[in-house]
Amino acid sequence: MAEPPKNFVRSEQIVIPPETKGSGEGGRFGFRGALRSNEPMARHVSWRAGGAVARAFFPADLADLAVFLHRLRRDEPLLMVGLGSNLLVRDGGFDGTAIFTHGALDTLRREADGSFYAEAGVASPKLARFVGNQACADAEFLAGIPGTVGGALAMNAGCHGGETWRYVDRVLMLKRNGEQIVRTPEDFAIGYRHVGLKQGSDEIFVGAWFRFPAGDAATARARLRELLVRRIATQPLQLPNAGSVFRNPPGDHAARLIEAAGLKGTQIDGAQVSEKHANFIVNRKGGATASAIEMLVGRVQTEVAEKFGVHLVREVRILGETVSRSGRHGEGV
Ligand SMILES: Cc1cc2nc3c(=O)[nH]c(=O)nc-3n(C[C@H](O)[C@H](O)[C@H](O)COP(=O)(O)OP(=O)(O)OC[C@H]3O[C@@H](n4cnc5c(N)ncnc54)[C@H](O)[C@@H]3O)c2cc1C
Repeated sequence: MAEPPKNFVRSEQIVIPPETKGSGEGGRFGFRGALRSNEPMARHVSWRAGGAVARAFFPADLADLAVFLHRLRRDEPLLMVGLGSNLLVRDGGFDGTAIFTHGALDTLRREADGSFYAEAGVASPKLARFVGNQACADAEFLAGIPGTVGGALAMNAGCHGGETWRYVDRVLMLKRNGEQIVRTPEDFAIGYRHVGLKQGSDEIFVGAWFRFPAGDAATARARLRELLVRRIATQPLQLPNAGSVFRNPPGDHAARLIEAAGLKGTQIDGAQVSEKHANFIVNRKGGATASAIEMLVGRVQTEVAEKFGVHLVREVRILGETVSRSGRHGEGV
């Protein structure tokens, strides 16, 4: 059988043309969301850099995403994208399908049993405000994490002593065949900025139920404001960045090591170790490539290892293909 033309989404039974949407071609294939080809990811990640994804699906809602996944070939590489605040696609792009949850999986409600249900595309700060306004405590830390609930679950995002999975009661997962399954934290290996299914891995987060202790709305609002003020004072929020680039090594801080290595302000082609917070890399004038950012990440790792014997582990997710000097694609992920 002939290969499908490039930029076409292959599915199990059919080839889905790109730019299909709603009642048009997408409707014919059973989904309502928008499918686009060669979507530049610099538009969708907070670093404002990087290459394109071959196919991008913007579901209409959860049911629509289930239909789409069911139709998609099981071996199609998938990339889940929330708000792209911890993500970089290399300049050579990602030859698979990116699925965007923000603005689509946006249900947020208080359940009758007092828990909070949030779909994966809900922004974490929105969940924090909602929980606080419902007179519950401890969700304030989520206000400073500029991603989605799906991203927070995948990363076990945390700060100021709070961590996402500490509050998870159960999660709603979607399998590659479009089936939904409810799982509990016992099904996952949960670590510092890392979460994985103990068995299998081809499921994605589409929602979660959280439990937060009773509190007071005014206190929650005040704490939320205080944490945001602290972030504005200590983080280079006016420049494109992806938050902390490295995990903190046990008993130490990546920022302290990077600063002590004299790397603050170091630049490679527009990517710079932030002067304000050494564990942040900023895209100084907005023109840095993913490759410049990744080279700087590598340089920081090398110099910190040489000076202090500590290997800094990357927290940000970098994937896709590099572009060689000749402009041709290099090695994969
Ligand atoms: C200014 C700034 C400050 C930050 N501060 C913090 C902080 O204090 N603490 C902290 O932990 N992080 C912090 N971050 C990093 C980032 O915001 C978090 O990791 C966040 O949870 C990522 O969410 P996202 O929706 O942007 O995920 P994305 O960046 O879109 O994706 C991150 C990873 O999660 C996966 N993913 C996303 N959605 C799903 C899903 N539905 N199912 C399965 N996998 C999924 C992606 O494939 C990718 O591997 C900061 C980032 C910035 C820019």
